[in-house]
Parts: sequence; structure tokens; C-alpha cells
Amino acid sequence: MARYTGPVCKLCRREGKKLFLKGERCYTERCAFERRSYAPGQHGQSRKKISEYGLQLRAKQQARRYYGVNEVQFHKYFLMAEKRQGVTGENLLRICESRLDNVIYLLGWANSRAEARQLVIHGHYEVNSKKVDIPSYLLKVGDTVSIKSKSKDSEKFKAVLEANASRPVPQWLDLNKDAATAKIAALPERDQIGAPVEEHLIVEFYSK
Ligand code: SF4
Repeated sequence: MARYTGPVCKLCRREGKKLFLKGERCYTERCAFERRSYAPGQHGQSRKKISEYGLQLRAKQQARRYYGVNEVQFHKYFLMAEKRQGVTGENLLRICESRLDNVIYLLGWANSRAEARQLVIHGHYEVNSKKVDIPSYLLKVGDTVSIKSKSKDSEKFKAVLEANASRPVPQWLDLNKDAATAKIAALPERDQIGAPVEEHLIVEFYSK
């Protein structure tokens, strides 16, 4: 399925919540959702009653959009989550969180998840000292992620690192800022995951 390439702020307005797809801008008054929190289009301001199925579908779409994951891959993650011990919805979010592009964003090594995806594809990062250019690469506890030394010294990366220097990094990532390396210390608990979704609705969606 093709990846959505349109204006991302429209996605937040359609979902009726902020999905934080544009990095720092999302936290400022320039956020489109802060100014127009209704759906785009002619009928965007009319109230619609949403069915139970509709709520479940929206929750799934919100999570997919938040992480930038296509339909097929997201379903695959759900099947993986079901097989793991514990709460399926939380497992699903944990799998999404452990994607390489997501971790790069959380470490402040890219301005947004979309940018992280591009930078990974362009080969700027290593996992356990080997180049990995697959955004969906799933990291494990104990893996070490780093910015390639040539990339780290570029003007582009200096600007990115400076812009995100004050962004808090989740505790499950053990970051060494000076060396631009980080270890996956653990997988996140639910309260360490910022995804604005009700994951139990996603489980209900796939369990029909
Ligand atoms: Fe969504 Fe961020 Fe755009 Fe606001 S600025 S509408 S949170 S993508």
C-alpha cells in the first residue's frame, strides 16, 4: 500500500487529535490543530456520531500514522504482539517503539519520525557498529545504536543535534550524547510510550 505523502497536519485534524508528526512545530502555536481543531473539508465542523467499529478503526489508523507504518506491516506487528507474553495492545506499541526510525527520533537524532525514516534510508546510523538502512528494523534489548562518525560531523547533523538537545530522552534508552551512541536498556513500559492511542481498541479491531 502506498505511503501517505500529503500534508500531515490534515491527518491530525481528521483524527481529531494531535499525532505529533512534525517534530518541534507540534509543540508551538504554529501547530495547525491548535488553530483549527476540526476536520478538514466542507463538512469538517459538523458533528458526526461515530460507531464502535469506527472508534476501533480510528485508533488503528492513529497508531499507524503516529509511527508511519503501512497497513500490512502494522497487521504483522499485531500478529507478533499476540504471540508475545503479556498485554497484546502494549506489546504492539512496544514493537512499534522499537523500530529503528522511532528510536532515532526519540534520541533527538532527527527532527521527526518522518525525517528519521529518511535519514535511516540514507545510511547515517549503525546498529552494533554495522550500517542499517532499514527504518522498520526492530531493535532488541542490548543493541547499541550510533550515528556514523562521518555523518555526526556534518553541518546537517550538528544542526539536528543542537535543535533537539533539550528534548527529554525516555529512560529505556541509555544515551551517551557526546559519543552519539545509545544502548537499548529495556523495552518501554506503557507509561513511557507517548503514542496518543487507546491500544485496546486496536486489539478489538483485529479480533473481530
Ligand atoms: Fe499535528 Fe504536529 Fe501538524 Fe500540529 S503541527 S497538526 S501536532 S503534525
